[in-house]
Amino acid sequence: MSTLLESYVAGRWHAAPDEGRPLLDATTGDEVARVSSNGLDVPAMVAYAREVGGPALRSLTFHERAGLLKALAKHLGAEKDLLYDLSARAGATRRDAAIDVDGGIGTLFSYASKGTRELPNDTIVLDGPPEPLGKGGTFVGQHLFTSRPGVAVQINAFNFPAWGMLEKLAPAFLAGLPTVVKPASPTAYVAEALVRQIIESGLLPEGALQLVCGDAGTLLYELGPQDSVAFTGSAHTANVLRDHPSIATGGVRLNVEADSLNCSILGPDVTEDAPELDLFVKGVVTEMTAKAGQKCTAIRRVLVPEPMAATVVEALRERLSRVSVGDPTDPDVRMGPLVSLAQRDEVRKAVEALRSTADVVFGDPDHPEVTGADAERGAFLGPVLLHARRGATEPHDVEPFGPVSTVLTYDDLDDAVALAARGRGSLAGSIVTHDPDVARTLTLGLAPWHGRLLVLDRDDAGESTGHGSPLPVLVHGGPGRAGGGEELGGVRAVLHHMQRTAVQASPDMLTAITGRWTTGAARRDDGTHPFRKSLADLHIGDTIASEPRTVTREDIDRFAALTGDTFYAHTDEEAAAANPLFGGIVAHGYLVVSLAAGLFVDPDPGPVLANFGVDNLRFLTPVKADDAIAVTLTVKQVTPRANADYGEVRWDAVVTNAEGAPVATYDVLTLVAKSWDA
Ligand code: NAP
Repeated sequence: MSTLLESYVAGRWHAAPDEGRPLLDATTGDEVARVSSNGLDVPAMVAYAREVGGPALRSLTFHERAGLLKALAKHLGAEKDLLYDLSARAGATRRDAAIDVDGGIGTLFSYASKGTRELPNDTIVLDGPPEPLGKGGTFVGQHLFTSRPGVAVQINAFNFPAWGMLEKLAPAFLAGLPTVVKPASPTAYVAEALVRQIIESGLLPEGALQLVCGDAGTLLYELGPQDSVAFTGSAHTANVLRDHPSIATGGVRLNVEADSLNCSILGPDVTEDAPELDLFVKGVVTEMTAKAGQKCTAIRRVLVPEPMAATVVEALRERLSRVSVGDPTDPDVRMGPLVSLAQRDEVRKAVEALRSTADVVFGDPDHPEVTGADAERGAFLGPVLLHARRGATEPHDVEPFGPVSTVLTYDDLDDAVALAARGRGSLAGSIVTHDPDVARTLTLGLAPWHGRLLVLDRDDAGESTGHGSPLPVLVHGGPGRAGGGEELGGVRAVLHHMQRTAVQASPDMLTAITGRWTTGAARRDDGTHPFRKSLADLHIGDTIASEPRTVTREDIDRFAALTGDTFYAHTDEEAAAANPLFGGIVAHGYLVVSLAAGLFVDPDPGPVLANFGVDNLRFLTPVKADDAIAVTLTVKQVTPRANADYGEVRWDAVVTNAEGAPVATYDVLTLVAKSWDA
């Protein structure tokens, strides 16, 4: 018995008043569910995201949001069996479902970790250092990212109902934007089950996630200039969206991940007995058969040097002949059906188009060999390999969104790059070569046309994640035909959702605005050494200015002897005098920094627990024997850690010489107890 899928709107599940359209099992043709978005209160949905979800999210710091993503990832990991079962009804084998479900959960974990490690425990992100704008130091610029008070609408393709949702949700959530997700109808029953699991977990703030099952209706008309649409799907739909008035003239941002005629190139250095040949062939077959080729990153064009064409075609045929097609729940089946009969017909049409300039050298699109299922009722189509004739145009134009690839031959590296570029922009490309010159020439030629490139050889094959796997830490998206969008890539994807603003102000104003001490702002010395203050008592701007200390020649000699750093500039009078930058013996930079630590520390046990590094260390002026140095240490940033009884304190350190010129500047990073009883 099938059920009508529901949407999740303004804190309630909404069932359409009509019966909806049937969604059929890809293997049996039986009805799985029905879908309709009729009766949806779209304005209420958008208002709820803006007025409930957004403020709730933005009241949390990045670290708190990241903590929720991690908890959600753990929760979903324990619930995934249902998603596997539903994915099978869409034609996915267990391995296919893992790419989607586990890939999505892994993406949540990755963003949780990135959010904690690479974003501040704050609600804004500073972008780069302050830029001095006036000679007197009273006028400074600072770029900062803030959360938009809008909503992120995410329209997904049918092929990755779980990963597609979670990979968009995670960065938007971290950025403080509530999500309205609209999954593709053919697999909306997987997406609906996933959203139910998320909502029922109670982990995300109410309003942070809403769901539209069925068509998008008037959703885009409700959007404004603080809102965004992230779309994954066909180039055709992308163009419809680009023309939508909200996007064309209404200021709504659109990110497009569209179709892509990705290529894999076999380097001309690869011979018949090189391990790279096997890697190449395996890669092509994996990409043709995973998710039955319904992957936006799948290899559609197989580019090989003319003399290797026959060998490659034979090796591909041999490997493809071992691929079993049938019931996706059968563990012996490698490839399940396509998502629907309509999709199968689309792919058959695409093969027909390709045949005008290419010959089928493996497979029969009309008569697949199927095990354990009814070939007529299921959307089955076995792998199809074509070999293009010289000058073929269709392989560069037609996307068969199924288990279909075309072998094309090239003459030299320029020709290979030119052929790859005829795809007019792709998501992912791979170059299989063991020759560094070939790797460089092809990578630099292909890079402007691609969002991601895999250079594969015997050295990285063991750990390679493969041609077709988008990774949360790497950018996903491609130029031109691939849509021109960019997703993932770690924190980049979070910042895409935020607004970067250049703020110009005095150092004191910037310190007040950003919560981080800015060079030139007021310092505070209340007579208590800042190392005697716990995190609770420290203030931005708290300062200790040391007495001067003379650096003697004996200090330099002893440091050289102790460390073994006897570089001539510190030890050899004559050679140091000839050095164009020093003109004589100078102190080691690390000696200066070590002496500075001796000048600023308060040695007794106290709230400062550890020094865990320095950032941005620069030596600006050489220190010669008998120069006097002094250091000023100022609290720049205080970041309590959520799950520890200490936090991080970043100190601005400036070492100066007797003339007051900066000798070294850096940030000292320490861990400081949240409270301390003297
Ligand atoms: P599609 O037909 O373009 O549909 C994509 C999404 O757009 C679905 O959710 C669809 O909803 C929705 N949609 C359709 N018309 C719309 C409109 N007028 N307004 C708002 N939403 C609308 O693509 P698909 O068949 O699901 O996916 C296959 C295609 O996606 C392939 O071409 C593939 O290359 C591409 N793809 C690209 C990537 C990538 O990352 N670049 C990833 C996966 C797939 P309904 O289903 O309800 O119509």
